[in-house]
Amino acid sequence: MSEVALAATLFGPEDLRMVAQPLDPLAKGMVRIKFGAAGICGSDMHYFRHARTGNFVVTSPLVLGHEIAGTVAEVGLQGTHLKVGDHVAINPSRWCGHCARCREGRANLCENIYFMGSASKTPHMQGGFATFFDVVPAQCIVVPKDLPFASVALAEPLAVCLHAASRAGDLKGRRVALFGAGPIGLLTMLSAKLAGAGDLTMIDIAGQPLAFARKLGANATFDISEGNDKLVAAAQEQPFDVVFEVTGAPSALAMAIRTVCRGGVLVQIGNLPGGEIPVPANAIMAKEIDFRGSFRFDKEFARAVDLIVQGGIDVQQLITARRPLADTPAAMRLALDRSQSIKVVLEASS
Ligand SMILES: [Zn+2]
Ligand SMILES: [Zn+2]
Repeated sequence: MSEVALAATLFGPEDLRMVAQPLDPLAKGMVRIKFGAAGICGSDMHYFRHARTGNFVVTSPLVLGHEIAGTVAEVGLQGTHLKVGDHVAINPSRWCGHCARCREGRANLCENIYFMGSASKTPHMQGGFATFFDVVPAQCIVVPKDLPFASVALAEPLAVCLHAASRAGDLKGRRVALFGAGPIGLLTMLSAKLAGAGDLTMIDIAGQPLAFARKLGANATFDISEGNDKLVAAAQEQPFDVVFEVTGAPSALAMAIRTVCRGGVLVQIGNLPGGEIPVPANAIMAKEIDFRGSFRFDKEFARAVDLIVQGGIDVQQLITARRPLADTPAAMRLALDRSQSIKVVLEASS
């Protein structure tokens, strides 16, 4: 086995380098994974550009990547469900299991959670854009070997979206709007559809992602790059029962508050800027809006893997480019170009 791992490591804004790191002997109870494929996420791109996302600030070199799949290369303890050679989907979160939130079944809100490739904790937990990396067995779900790693890697963003859809409550027959037609917006749209949503409207400021949304089944789309008038008129005629804010732009949140119906549900998935932002919050009271946050996922990870294995949601259709892991810095720039990219996937360099 290789004695060195090559990892996409972030040192500061726009300073992402492939760094060779010697591999320590595998710790007891851990599993070493050989990289199979990984998705580049919006939060990876935020980290890449600003060395931060929301309130999480990179204070020491951080290996990015949390949408990952690979092969079990070494098992540090016998008696787990894993064996060398297994293909696995990897849940990037490691929760404590005993804090109040874990005990009430909301492990995504664990007070002691670690998340791969995230600066939420210091020291940071390193991510999976690396030829080899170590996880605990509980993070791994074995998948069939004939399933492409690129699909398996997208279980993580799908889990985020399944969680968001479940935060919205009963979606059957609901008129749903989504702000932001990136991968999370699109997968949330597909998750809402799977949950029985009636009518799906996608809103964005770029034409390409909206065309993609129509291809994936959006009933209506609005490009609000040149104003909100058409959207506001449509929402006045027939307001949305449920709105998902996926962009993290304060202006989109303002529009979401404006276009959701009285008594409607507004789910915040997008990572808003850290600190205070001006929003027309009084309408939350006056319209009795249920304003709900949605953060990562919990049991939805296993469901996402299952849906991908069974073909319940076709995640491959979102992939617009594949690049070798060794070219992560260039792949990151490609992913940032929304006129070209929906989802960029890194693959093992053979
Ligand atoms: Zn992600
Ligand atoms: Zn916990």
